[in-house]
Amino acid sequence: MNFWRTFLDILLPRHCIVCDIELNNSEKDLCNVCLFNTEYIRWEDATDNPFLRIIWNTHNVDAAGSSFFYCPENKFHNIFIAIKYHGCPQVGKKMAFLSFPYWKKLGLGNEVDYIIPVPLAKTRKFKRGYNQAEWIAQGVSLCTGIPVNNNILTRIRNNTSQTQKKGHERKENTVNIFAVKQNCCDLNDKTILLVDDIMTTGATLCDCIRALRQHFPTVRIQLYTLGFTKQDK
Ligand SMILES: [Zn+2]
Repeated sequence: MNFWRTFLDILLPRHCIVCDIELNNSEKDLCNVCLFNTEYIRWEDATDNPFLRIIWNTHNVDAAGSSFFYCPENKFHNIFIAIKYHGCPQVGKKMAFLSFPYWKKLGLGNEVDYIIPVPLAKTRKFKRGYNQAEWIAQGVSLCTGIPVNNNILTRIRNNTSQTQKKGHERKENTVNIFAVKQNCCDLNDKTILLVDDIMTTGATLCDCIRALRQHFPTVRIQLYTLGFTKQDK
């Protein structure tokens, strides 16, 4: 196994997705230096947790957390480029698995019945070949033992790409696009952990929460995203 890995590495050297240094045969996706120096978010409670404060403007949720800041100036930004555009969803699973214990210690994931990844538009999933939120959800599941449930939420219409949109445009672009699947299990009085790749304005997560609460008024909701976009102020 190691022989073939070494052989393949000579033929086709692999590079760290963060710093681009050549990987040795024991390293995968990220070099050990980058893994060791990963800059995780360390909010401790609601007073210093902008994620919670943004969502609380419109919805009541029990907890929320993210692992990395999503901003182009940060070299760890490359993690998200690899996950979203370079066909490396396994990096999302790995980084969620490695970083979620911090949030677990603070109560995120406590007494959760299901992890629910935010569904991707069918055409986008077909083009990309995967939904990165599902891979991140699998990393959280591996860390917590909570099952992933893909049979609850669905996307009933596609929104256009969010990438180039400003805050208010993103919000308008993300209204009534999610619904609860027919015949899905009863979530009243259950606790779910909604998982997405990146939190920007919160519009996507808020529309998922709206759809869930319409059907299940007493569902308790927690939120986790791997990335959190630094806010303007
Ligand atoms: Zn590196």
